[in-house]
Amino acid sequence: MLLIKAGGGREINWNGVCADIAALRASEPVVLVHGASTLRDELAARLSVPVRTVVSPSGVTSVYTDRAAIEVFLMAYAGLANKRIVARLLAHGVPAVGLSGVDGRLWEAAAKKDIPVVENGKTRLLRDNLTGRVERVNEALLRLLLDAGYVPVLCAPAISGQNEIVNTDNDQAAAVMAGALGIDRVVYLFEAPGLLRDPGDEGSRIGRVGREAIDAVLPFAQGRMKRKILGAKKALEAGVKTVCFGDGRIDRPVWSALEGQGTVFG
Ligand code: ADP
Repeated sequence: MLLIKAGGGREINWNGVCADIAALRASEPVVLVHGASTLRDELAARLSVPVRTVVSPSGVTSVYTDRAAIEVFLMAYAGLANKRIVARLLAHGVPAVGLSGVDGRLWEAAAKKDIPVVENGKTRLLRDNLTGRVERVNEALLRLLLDAGYVPVLCAPAISGQNEIVNTDNDQAAAVMAGALGIDRVVYLFEAPGLLRDPGDEGSRIGRVGREAIDAVLPFAQGRMKRKILGAKKALEAGVKTVCFGDGRIDRPVWSALEGQGTVFG
């Protein structure tokens, strides 16, 4: 079984992703997870809701999520992005069903209300953050869809144990889900040719990273790329055989990543 996580960048070639899924699903079940960060930022600007980015003490960037932010998040991810992707897959003949992590308690997250953040060189606790880390997935619901031939199209937010809707990291959720479903290959697509030694130099792609060397490549990642590498590490620890990072902007983006034209972990 194949899990594809496609990022929320403006330049992702969605026609290419959908065409690849249409071909791949003939030989194996496919699960798609998607982001929507660009749409979220555009919608937030149109609604005049500021997007506040915070940085953890370990240097990982995330978005501070208060009530107004989670409303925009739901509109962008579970609404606009999810339904547009489902419609595009349907146009490619793929029987796609879109769900957020909230639906059927698909992604259950441990809420993290107070998070340590670094501001002006000082660490402090930010309170009432509506985020969480996915710890459990509703595997039975996914199997129901997969066994009936559907392609699940999934995205954040998640649901907490206290039934609050919480923002969550899609990359990490994809890794947890891959473990739960016994998926053997995971593809992460984003707007770069793979993991780069120097994020400013597209020629500095790293072709292969052994599972023992993942921590060593973490320093090359800036911002949210760190989350993807941590997601790859988690997926491999959970039993996934290979994790392929690939360029989501090109033709045949999923095939190219699977063929090793990006970065292969494992
Ligand atoms: P998405 O929203 O597509 O899931 P992000 O935008 O969060 O992805 O992360 C992907 C981006 O991270 C790339 O498009 C690139 O601009 C940036 N990036 C930072 N460090 C690296 C790196 N070492 N190699 C490749 N991309 C990097």
